[in-house]
Amino acid sequence: MKNSRRSFLQTAAAAAGVTLIPTDTYSTLVNATPRALRDDRMKFTFRPYTIELKHPFTISVLSRTTTPVMLTEVEYSGIVGYGEASMPPYLGESHETATAFLSKVDLSKYENPFELETILSDIDALAPGNPAAKASVDIALHDLIGKILNKPWYDIWGFDKKKAPNTTFTIGIDKPDVVRQKVKEAVGFKILKVKLGRDNDKEMIETIRSLTDVPLTVDPNQGWKDKNYALDMAHWLKDRNVKYIEQPLPKEMVDDIAWLTERSPLPILADEGFQRLSDLRKIPGTYNGIVVKLMKSTGLREAHTMVMLARALDLKIMLGCMVETSCAVTAASHLSPMVNWADLDGNLLITNDVFDGMKVIDGKVTIPDRPGIGVIKL
Ligand code: MG
Repeated sequence: MKNSRRSFLQTAAAAAGVTLIPTDTYSTLVNATPRALRDDRMKFTFRPYTIELKHPFTISVLSRTTTPVMLTEVEYSGIVGYGEASMPPYLGESHETATAFLSKVDLSKYENPFELETILSDIDALAPGNPAAKASVDIALHDLIGKILNKPWYDIWGFDKKKAPNTTFTIGIDKPDVVRQKVKEAVGFKILKVKLGRDNDKEMIETIRSLTDVPLTVDPNQGWKDKNYALDMAHWLKDRNVKYIEQPLPKEMVDDIAWLTERSPLPILADEGFQRLSDLRKIPGTYNGIVVKLMKSTGLREAHTMVMLARALDLKIMLGCMVETSCAVTAASHLSPMVNWADLDGNLLITNDVFDGMKVIDGKVTIPDRPGIGVIKL
């Protein structure tokens, strides 16, 4: 069985487009067990977890202090891949919906994790929606495959980790004294993201500008309702060294967004207005770019395709995250060398992380040099 397992891994690695170099992990796996491969099936498990925020997080539509997540594991041949679903309540998923969805996931029927396209297509077809729950399976499978190959995903994809961008740190909507405190906590970040969209937009920016000159980005989360106000704000923000605007108007106002994009001195990016890969066809002519998040894209498989296709279409790309543990944030970080901007700070906003993973060093996304997605369970 040893030889058939080795040839299976070599075939699988070739299919994944990588050169398989016999490393310690690989040799250990090949020699680990005399069990026939057919009896060695993937085991999928999940558990609900609630992450606690350091500060109440306020955006244009709500304020909250916790976020429900699901932590997933796929075990195969003694190797464990980790995944996560982060489910901010306003997006509609919850511990209950994710439990119902993930209970339907049966990975034991597949030969091995390298059947990734088949497995993830099947999982996508189990039920509509549920993008975060789907991402939690996708991320765990990617972690597992990378660990079997003994390579980090940025390396499997052929990306140069030195090209990872700076990450923004997010300042939620608040009173000036709280905003000042948050800006002080963000020391070391080379770019800040400011939530706008209530009635104090200019006060938020002026408060931050009284303390720092670092470039800013803004995210009204669909909170502006008028295209003329949005255009005036775009000019006002450009004069204050703001780099781009995420989702200024409600996603349904497609004609107004296209009008704004044509005139705006700042790039206009689709976040709420862009979810899955199939939405990409609607972006050119309406927005200048997209916000990619694993919890919208159903994980790394679609997010990778989104990034490559958006680059081919000359669209700007911002790689974002939810409030989540270092598991999902670190998974996303492997795509960061290929994007214009990153907002990978979700793990920094919480008090009870359960993984060690990507770090922000000198303001820059720093991808760990570990196989798979590169997280260690704490
Ligand atoms: Mg956004």
